Amino acid sequence: SRNTGVDYDFIFKLVLTGDSSVGKSNLLLRFTRNEFRLDTQSTIGVEFAYKQLNIDGRKIKTQVWDTAGQERFKTVIPQFYRGSEGALCVFDLTKPDSFDHIVSWIEEVQRHTSTEIPMILVGNKSDLVEQRKISKDQAMMLAKQQNMSYMETSAMNSTNVEQAFTTLVTAIYYRKV
Ligand code: GDP
Ligand code: MG
Repeated sequence: SRNTGVDYDFIFKLVLTGDSSVGKSNLLLRFTRNEFRLDTQSTIGVEFAYKQLNIDGRKIKTQVWDTAGQERFKTVIPQFYRGSEGALCVFDLTKPDSFDHIVSWIEEVQRHTSTEIPMILVGNKSDLVEQRKISKDQAMMLAKQQNMSYMETSAMNSTNVEQAFTTLVTAIYYRKV
């Protein structure tokens, strides 16, 4: 067959949503570059980054979009959501407000995407054991109500980061094939 230069079987656009400072940019950094930064407020100018995963023997290229801080103003441009096939709704396990706002982030994604896309609930900063305010049961209950999977991650020490993205991408993949 003709060589088209395409080295993957599928490409999926994913979006990271959730309140400011929950760790979205660091989840992206950890997933795509295996890096972590103590301060990422304005250091990351990129809109998205790529990472390839293998699922079921297929090469799946993920294009993960980050908000670059716009979520602080509660308006994220429509292009951010356009064409996305999955969303990670992230809260900070030490910040109850960020958990309380999850439903509005889910609704924001639904408003901007035509079909119902898979979403995963992510409780980040699991390394901050002493400061945890949201229990696993509480988060699992919300995830169940919203028909989502739930994972607890730490972008700082890498716990479950790749697994969270892989769980979401696997759900998208099995809707396609
Ligand atoms: P964003 O605003 O959602 O993109 O959040 P950032 O990725 O910029 O992270 C906000 C702050 O939380 C930064 O100081 C990060 O270093 C810190 N942070 C992010 N993820 C973690 C984590 O898993 N554990 C801990 N302890 N801190 C984190
Ligand atoms: Mg950010």
